[in-house]
Amino acid sequence: MSGYPIDRIAVTKEAGASPLLQRAIAAWPGAEVEQAQAAPEGDGLAMAADPVAQGKRTLVLVKNRGRFIRKCPGTMGLICCNYWVIDLVEGCAIDCSYCVLQGYLTDRRIRLAVNFDDMERELDTELAATDGPIRLGTGELSDSLMFDHELGISSMLIAMVRQRPRVTLELKTKTVNIDSILDTKPVENVVIAWSLNAPAIAYGEERGAASIEQRIQAASRAVAAGWKVAFHFDPLVIHDEWEAGYRQTAALLAEAVDPARVEWISLGALRFHPSMKDVIRRRFGAEGILKGEFALCPNKMRYAKPLRRRLFSTVKNALQEALPGAPLYLCMEGAEMWKAVFGALPQAMPRNAPMKRLFA
Ligand code: SF4
Repeated sequence: MSGYPIDRIAVTKEAGASPLLQRAIAAWPGAEVEQAQAAPEGDGLAMAADPVAQGKRTLVLVKNRGRFIRKCPGTMGLICCNYWVIDLVEGCAIDCSYCVLQGYLTDRRIRLAVNFDDMERELDTELAATDGPIRLGTGELSDSLMFDHELGISSMLIAMVRQRPRVTLELKTKTVNIDSILDTKPVENVVIAWSLNAPAIAYGEERGAASIEQRIQAASRAVAAGWKVAFHFDPLVIHDEWEAGYRQTAALLAEAVDPARVEWISLGALRFHPSMKDVIRRRFGAEGILKGEFALCPNKMRYAKPLRRRLFSTVKNALQEALPGAPLYLCMEGAEMWKAVFGALPQAMPRNAPMKRLFA
């Protein structure tokens, strides 16, 4: 079991027949099971001392009536990595100080859509409408593996893409919940990805996540079992001794992971909507990650360009030394930053053949 507590399981009438409900009841036998209230306020969370933390202890099973799969819209002027998102789970049991979900989702509870058949149909429609590859993942509004030992969602997703080779499924996590994946024969178009950071940031800012050492050990086990892996150094945070911290994580990776099995590594610098400052201060106390020189550009707070350039270059150099040949890319940055850090735009980077696949 993963150890993430759930006190309440709420289910809508339409989702009541899903086998996921029985799995949830078996996984959290002490949880109250009740009919879901349509509006999140009906769940009394607004009165809780910390509605965000409280919401993480309620699992809601619903039928998704909207879209499951959407292309990441990117941002005007920034280079897009052609990522597709599956909105299967909204909300997360982990609690990161920088998490955009704290301010983004109106429903604080963890919502799991149970109508997988509709999701599969939608994926086939998207595949029919495009000739190219689709790289998609569930880790945008949640952690892909947080409840995997309880609910086995990864095996349902892996079964979905196994017969659809044009799709690459990325399961992105800060946990070590890979036991049920490792019980399965590796699938060529599935990548298990870990979000990584400097150990001090993981320790201080990512409540409920596995330590960096544990995540890297899990990645090492996945590689040994024949799975492809990826890493996301996002958000990179400027903090005391940050250079040493990121070099330490890169060195741990070098000891544990064969670079040939690394599909991609992304680098993204800390960014947040200005309204998040109050949420972070209120929920996490001290200034923490808010220390630093930020500029509003255009509607998010980001480190000033020279700082970001130094941050990216330092981490890139450490990773190129640690995992030679592993494809690196920048997340949410423009052409100027790509040229400053890599000396080229992604399409023109000769060493990184997989980059051409991502940025075609
Ligand atoms: S793991 Fe991701 S989704 Fe979950 S709290 Fe942290 S940043 Fe948010």
